[in-house]
Amino acid sequence: MSHLDPEVAALLAMGEPASDADRRHLDACADCRAEVDSFSRAVLAGRASGAGEPLLTPPDRVWESIRSELSLSDVASDADAAEASVASSPGTRSHVASRRRRVSRRPVFFVLAGAAVAVVAIFAGVWASGGIVPKADIISEARLDGLPGWSGAAGEALLERIDGHDRVVIDLTASVPDDGYREVWLLTADASDLVSLGTLDGSTGTFDVPDAVDMSRFTVVDISQETTDGDPGHSGDSIVRGTLSAP
Ligand SMILES: [Zn+2]
Repeated sequence: MSHLDPEVAALLAMGEPASDADRRHLDACADCRAEVDSFSRAVLAGRASGAGEPLLTPPDRVWESIRSELSLSDVASDADAAEASVASSPGTRSHVASRRRRVSRRPVFFVLAGAAVAVVAIFAGVWASGGIVPKADIISEARLDGLPGWSGAAGEALLERIDGHDRVVIDLTASVPDDGYREVWLLTADASDLVSLGTLDGSTGTFDVPDAVDMSRFTVVDISQETTDGDPGHSGDSIVRGTLSAP
């Protein structure tokens, strides 16, 4: 006799209507009634505030269904084959066999859980060592010095290449006014040309360099104090400035 799928038993326990065939099987099969009952108690325990009802161990066949989902081969084959023939005979002996099989499978579960933990650990290690995340190469760096009027201001800029694209990483130490904002610029060495990378929120930031910008020309990093005057150009009030060079 083939029993109810554990999924079906779980759905019935949650109040789904039973099909005629399932209803006939439940009337005839004490094992499946017991399984639905145990799921029902678990559902009640789950819906209650958590006090009172103990948590229940899922029936053996739930594990069997998980195992077949995972296409695992029968590990304890010899012992199981012997027990399966015992289990096919009705009565109390099948309960004994089922209990013994549960015991014999528990170590397999722990082996699988251990393997899963090991796989996660390996992926985490590869991730942390930069094996999956693209690695940023430092192309050049600049010490940023405070300009007159900004004594004590200092900073650092790194030009990085990651995945074929350049980006500038900024770290600024300066006491700045509450009003206005800070803007990061790339300048040519003679300051005849400049390009804005964006506004610096707080003291650190990372700015993508547009691919059209020739970094062999724009070698100076500049951070300016800007006012909200609607003028998109450089205010002329530089806080720090420095020239990029190979690290
Ligand atoms: Zn059954």
